[in-house]
Amino acid sequence: MADKRDYYEILGVSRNADENEIKRAYRSLAKKYHPDVNSAPDAADKFKEINEAYEVLSDPQKRQNYDQFGFAGVDGSGMGGFSSEGFEDISDIFSSFFGGGFGGMGGMGGGFSQRQTRNASAPRQGEDRFMRLNISFMDACFGKTETIMLNVDETCSACGGSGAASKSDIEDCPTCHGTGSVITQQRTILGVMQSQTVCPDCRGRGKKIKKACPKCSGAGYIRKKQTVDLKIPAGIQSGQQLRVSGKGERGVNGGPAGDLYIEINVMNHEHFERDGRDIWLEVPVSAVDATLGTELDVPTIHGDVTMKIPAGTQNGARLRLKGKGITEARTQRTGDQICTVKIVIDKNLNNTEKELYRDLQKMQNRKGKESIWSRFKKQFN
Ligand SMILES: [Zn+2]
Ligand SMILES: [Zn+2]
Repeated sequence: MADKRDYYEILGVSRNADENEIKRAYRSLAKKYHPDVNSAPDAADKFKEINEAYEVLSDPQKRQNYDQFGFAGVDGSGMGGFSSEGFEDISDIFSSFFGGGFGGMGGMGGGFSQRQTRNASAPRQGEDRFMRLNISFMDACFGKTETIMLNVDETCSACGGSGAASKSDIEDCPTCHGTGSVITQQRTILGVMQSQTVCPDCRGRGKKIKKACPKCSGAGYIRKKQTVDLKIPAGIQSGQQLRVSGKGERGVNGGPAGDLYIEINVMNHEHFERDGRDIWLEVPVSAVDATLGTELDVPTIHGDVTMKIPAGTQNGARLRLKGKGITEARTQRTGDQICTVKIVIDKNLNNTEKELYRDLQKMQNRKGKESIWSRFKKQFN
């Protein structure tokens, strides 16, 4: 593919040829090289080549892409569709038209060292981007679609990413004569060492731009605000990451954009605590209710649920509300709510209440009835 011929050259027409000229040229060549009529060994390949050229030049959109970007503009399914075999060659073509997203025109100059690799001018996927997103406890329990605002670099529509005002404003780099790399010689004790490095003048692109595209000021891309609807699945936990494909940094040399990773941080709830799918809640219960038993309307993430406090419930007892936890989107399994009983002693009794407690105390200290205290003391005798 390195010696792939220009489509106009294949059909033997000028770059300004109109539809009819192209059609006529194609017909006569197709007739001449059709494998059924031409027995030359290279006829089939020629015929294929002619068809490919015609397919592109007869389609106004494809032809425009080809005029602007060369083979890269029409090959496969576009930017992302490189087959592994054709990769190197296509990257060569790319490098001659596309700016290195990095070094770019007045872009981030720091990218140079990273470009000193063999394929400095090959299309590369953009870097992944990372974000952190705080979500409320309840949103983590039930899931939510969160609309997030992003700055996304879009290929400039005016120059198609080349950064040049027009096609004729792209010229071969004078330093490397369009190759994108320079040979440097170094004398060492072993003799003269020759090494090939990325051209520092054009940063490996092989091209220089005479007049920058006015729309993007030569950058080749335009930074745009974009909203993305992020689906947060129910049951997500702090530290989990959600991937939004293609919303990372822009690709280099026409490569695809990276991905965006959003790390979720679930904020604490004032009362509820989470353990996977289960929700924990501390429930205050009065001494009287714990002693005699009662029913309480206990808050859950699903609203209030009536819970039975059995007579004789101890401090720290765990009471389970089945199915009142989180239904995880991923597993479709539902957790429980676990209530930890905290017995709270009322310090603000009125006189009647105090009287009743005194009666109770007297009764419990009566001779003959073993109190909690006397049972404890007996263990020390
Ligand atoms: Zn532009
Ligand atoms: Zn150069």
